[in-house]
Amino acid sequence: MSSLFEGASGRLDAAVRHAEVSEDTLERLRLPKSVLKVSIPVRMDDGTLRTFPGYRVRYDDSRGPTKGGIRFHPGVNVDEVQTLAFWMTFKCAAVDLPFGGGKGGVTVNPKELSQLELERLSRGYVNQIADFIGPDVDVPAPDVYTNAMVMGWMMDQYGIIHRKIEPAVITGKPLSMGGSAGRTSATADGAFDVIVTLREALELGAQPTVAVQGFGNAGATLAELLHRAGFRVVAVSDSQGAIHRAEGLDAPSVRRVKEETGELRAVSGDGSEPEEVDHEKISGEELLALDVDLLIPAALENAITEENADAVQARAIVEVANGPVSPEADAILAERGVSVVPDILANAGGVTVSYFEWVQNRSGLYWTLEEVRQRLRARMTSEAERIGALGAEKEIDLRTAAYAHALSRISDAVDAKGSAETFRR
Ligand code: NAD
Repeated sequence: MSSLFEGASGRLDAAVRHAEVSEDTLERLRLPKSVLKVSIPVRMDDGTLRTFPGYRVRYDDSRGPTKGGIRFHPGVNVDEVQTLAFWMTFKCAAVDLPFGGGKGGVTVNPKELSQLELERLSRGYVNQIADFIGPDVDVPAPDVYTNAMVMGWMMDQYGIIHRKIEPAVITGKPLSMGGSAGRTSATADGAFDVIVTLREALELGAQPTVAVQGFGNAGATLAELLHRAGFRVVAVSDSQGAIHRAEGLDAPSVRRVKEETGELRAVSGDGSEPEEVDHEKISGEELLALDVDLLIPAALENAITEENADAVQARAIVEVANGPVSPEADAILAERGVSVVPDILANAGGVTVSYFEWVQNRSGLYWTLEEVRQRLRARMTSEAERIGALGAEKEIDLRTAAYAHALSRISDAVDAKGSAETFRR
């Protein structure tokens, strides 16, 4: 077992003391249910053949078919995929989805592939895992460097292999292929609902200041939602650097320009020529150390570690990325009284709307954006309330509370088939 997985599973130890969990459940969660390693041969545009390593892990299916994204990244390895599948197990249980946790990935730099090579790789991956996935078994979705079009190719390939159209085999599809309204903004929408619900617990005043690391799909959408709700977004960053404006940035305009030009610019106004406003350029590290009410890491894992946790001055952190705060940083932040809303709650809006997509595919009845939004808000609000209440009652941090909350649900499912106690009777 390597350190990434050890770090992830170590978080369980703190939660176990506060959850009603059987020995059987802990024993079951020690190891993944199944791990598939494949090689994917791809004919490249220049005629050569390359093989890429790929993985799919089903960590635990006590609560239902496993669910989790597919990542295309040069750093993908079996340990990372297993860790991400483990997180998904808890995320799905934390917001009460009838799913277990899974994850998949291919070790590849997709930026080096042509679109045709990317399509062959996506279809080739499904060729190798087609017997391992399915609407009642394991349901993939997009993750880092995979998108709606990749999901469409994969659904199509699964249909070719099984000779039937099966939209519920994969979520995050294009709308025209059975995708759900509201999927693109779901992670930000869900994070917004969680922040609003926990506003008092996080001691956010009338016009809280916010810094967002990672101005991508989730981060930029959330910045815009917070701006519209009266929060003051003072700084945002992307992989190139950060912009800071103490009076607040016009997040909707910054987002529009970023989407249109790819550039992060401090602009204001709705017109075709938005005006540049006074601001300072700062580094990504400086953004993480700003004196703000709310810091939102929405880029990659391990943004805040033991190296820089001491510099964090924010009063609260909301983990929109997966695993942005390392276990060592968690301990430092807790000592300093910084509240952390954990990823398994804060970014669960994405998998929740994926669940809605699966439900719609299976029923054949499609919901409006308003219906999706309203169902998402109801679920995120009630689960955030329950996790907040558990934290307050047991006097534990929100991460431990979220894990304890999820663990109790997983234990209920495991024990429903009988636990050691049942069989000793
Ligand atoms: P994205 O690719 O749209 O955006 C990521 C952004 O982060 C980009 O703007 C990139 O420039 C920026 N970035 C990369 N490295 C950075 C760095 N060192 N400093 C500052 N910015 C940096 O991705 P996304 O879909 O918004 O996902 C962001 C995170 O949220 C990921 O960790 C992802 O796993 C997690 N997440 C996303 C979803 C979803 O539905 N989109 C759901 C759950 C979790």
